[in-house]
Amino acid sequence: MSDLLLQGGRVVDPANSVDEVADVLISDGKVAAVGAEAAAKAAGDAEKADCSGKVVCPGLIDIHVHFREPGQTAKETIESGARSAARGGFTTVVCQPNTRPAIDNPGTVALIQEKAEKNAIVNVLTTGTITKDRAGEELAPIGSLNKAGVVAITDDGSCVQNNELMRRAAEYAKMFNLSIFDHCQDYDLVTDGVMNEGYWSTNLGLKGWPSVGEEMIVARNILLAELTGARIHCQHMSAAGAVRLIREAKARGVSISGEACPHHFTLTDASIAGSEVFWDGDGKELYPDRDKADLPAWPEYDTNFKMNPPLRTAADRAAVIEGVIDGTLDIISSDHAPHCDYEKEVEFDYAPFGITGLETQLALSLMRFHHTGAMKLPDLISRLTDVPAKLVNLDNKGGLGVGMDGDVTVFDADAEWVFRREDTVSQSTNSPFYDWPLKGKPVMTIVGGKIAWRE
Ligand SMILES: [Zn+2]
Repeated sequence: MSDLLLQGGRVVDPANSVDEVADVLISDGKVAAVGAEAAAKAAGDAEKADCSGKVVCPGLIDIHVHFREPGQTAKETIESGARSAARGGFTTVVCQPNTRPAIDNPGTVALIQEKAEKNAIVNVLTTGTITKDRAGEELAPIGSLNKAGVVAITDDGSCVQNNELMRRAAEYAKMFNLSIFDHCQDYDLVTDGVMNEGYWSTNLGLKGWPSVGEEMIVARNILLAELTGARIHCQHMSAAGAVRLIREAKARGVSISGEACPHHFTLTDASIAGSEVFWDGDGKELYPDRDKADLPAWPEYDTNFKMNPPLRTAADRAAVIEGVIDGTLDIISSDHAPHCDYEKEVEFDYAPFGITGLETQLALSLMRFHHTGAMKLPDLISRLTDVPAKLVNLDNKGGLGVGMDGDVTVFDADAEWVFRREDTVSQSTNSPFYDWPLKGKPVMTIVGGKIAWRE
């Protein structure tokens, strides 16, 4: 494999406290040098890429995606999902196990690994379930799943309601040094809620999904993490109370972590009342200098704003943002959840939860945290590289130290662009962010020293 020399970019490598203009050399799929010696060490026939004016960082890692294979390949496949990840600047993704069949046995893990090896242009890893068929009744064979190579366990899409079972899962996970991810939803409190319980659910006549349904399980997870010492990671946090609980627990040293998704730190439940309402109210802060006539329009009850957990209030959104800034929420993930058009083009109550997110995640994160000045760029990149790598035990990823895997993302932090429905490379088109003016764009995604995607 020939050498790849990335020249003159701003190298931001939070794991190694690097933030400087430098060259990066990748040889034989590994990082070979960063800095002055990179050019000198490069082979004569090395491929060179001019990265001046761009950010060069460790390959972005998204530990929460749904690629729908096996079982629902009309929505997405490992191949199409990986393409979408590469276009979004992600070099490694971690699939959730709510496929059909569920990833609750070593055979299905092997199937995914084989498909990933054959068809995916980025690294596709997988979680396994906590319980058999994600039914919440009987533990999955966690030891065998671990041996088969899952990087964490979760019933995502579902939540184990039985606290005793969750305790035993946490104890097993700890034995194998696996993180346990949880989709935090108390079924009795949430029942059949479809959007945040509050002013807008009442106004729109939709069944509410109350914040306490999330907070209750976050509190449970904190107690179980404290009891067992297991690492419990609360997925897609949306409620202010949940962020507060995690912050308090972390201050006590509990092994709990949290995750934020771009839709939860960008949108609010008012967006389900349509774009007019949103841009006049909660959306104003996103584009203070633009007239709403120049911003995208959507109708009320648009099902591309339906996800689980739901979009919440402006106060919840502010709490999620604060959580990312102060590190209470350790990482950013997309919860990329593709669905077919015909499934989403139904009444709000009947549409499936979830939106695609891999191709807009970097821009929305930069807009919210970097372009506002709320966070230093290395701190933000850390939430997308070394911190998620640690959560799933990827010792060779998440940084640009010599000898690490040659996964690199190059992006233009200031490029302005518009995300168009027809340009997506995901197999599904259920994003709420079509036609949004975005700032920050991946330009090259390098996986194991090979250019997987470039603009
Ligand atoms: Zn989930």
